[in-house]
Amino acid sequence: MKKLLLLTTGGTIASIEGENGLVPGMNANDLLNYLPGIDLLCEIDGYPLMNLDSTNIQPEHWVDIANAIYERYDDYDGFVITHGTDTMAYTAAAISYMLQHANKPIVLTGSQIPIGFEKTDAKRNILDAIRFACEETGGVYVVFDGRVIQGTRAIKLRTKSYDSFESINFPYVASIYEDSIEYNKPIHMAKNQKPTLDTALCTDVALVKLHPGIQPELFDYLKEHYKGIVIESYGSGGIPFQGRNLLAKLNDLTDCGISVVITTQCLEEGEDIEIYEVGRNVNPNRIIRSRNMNTEAIVPKLMWVLGKTQDPHMVKKLMETPIADDVNF
Ligand code: ASP
Repeated sequence: MKKLLLLTTGGTIASIEGENGLVPGMNANDLLNYLPGIDLLCEIDGYPLMNLDSTNIQPEHWVDIANAIYERYDDYDGFVITHGTDTMAYTAAAISYMLQHANKPIVLTGSQIPIGFEKTDAKRNILDAIRFACEETGGVYVVFDGRVIQGTRAIKLRTKSYDSFESINFPYVASIYEDSIEYNKPIHMAKNQKPTLDTALCTDVALVKLHPGIQPELFDYLKEHYKGIVIESYGSGGIPFQGRNLLAKLNDLTDCGISVVITTQCLEEGEDIEIYEVGRNVNPNRIIRSRNMNTEAIVPKLMWVLGKTQDPHMVKKLMETPIADDVNF
């Protein structure tokens, strides 16, 4: 029988009705009490790590989660992390960078409705996550509404429906049915005994979504306060250079050694700055291409890379190197 660890961090799944709306109020053992008979499936220990609405999760909490898994890695066959859905995609990607080459499953899940409420999706999601964490597989995944998503490819797309998460620009890893788990793609298992733990982060990263009329002076402020900037531009990718000219500001940022990543507000198919003049105007040797990486992966990846080096050439190289299936061409 497999031995798992259930780490709880809060979120709707563990929420109760508070005086001022839903608040996380249950720990790991409370959640396990909702799953009678789970001991027939696996041996499972609970570990209440934190109890936060995931809106309050900060990069430092990603470090706590990665450390908690790493410290207990040898004692368990798999890990389930319950987490709020709002920032779960960021946490899943962050853990994918901090704990690479895991040869055991590390599975994040949550729910749209608290576990103690009628019509909750929590029991199904935890049970699915536990079942997937019992598989002979390795890596970081999100399990939600019967689907398994690569940790670097999940996006919360819906605020209310049970199928809140989608796998963007990447196939679902597997589907979980009542009696079986069906894989959509082969999983490459790491051969090493333990994942590499690397939790150094530089959190001086800003994400800017372009909109018509955005004022270039915003970038003067960013230049003084940030080491990395992710720009969600439009469509295939481009920077306005007529009217309110952002191109000049962008060149200024890269001249000052700030790492600038370009991505797109379009969820699917990624940027390709080589198509239009507005994209080709951007110096491809200075700007960091994200291709079809998701914003929820780009932001933690940039923090993680800047935690290692602030040499702009090295940052560009590492950012453009695929990690944990976060990008494909
Ligand atoms: N606000 C909640 C959270 O992210 C939402 C959820 O878990 O579904 O913690």
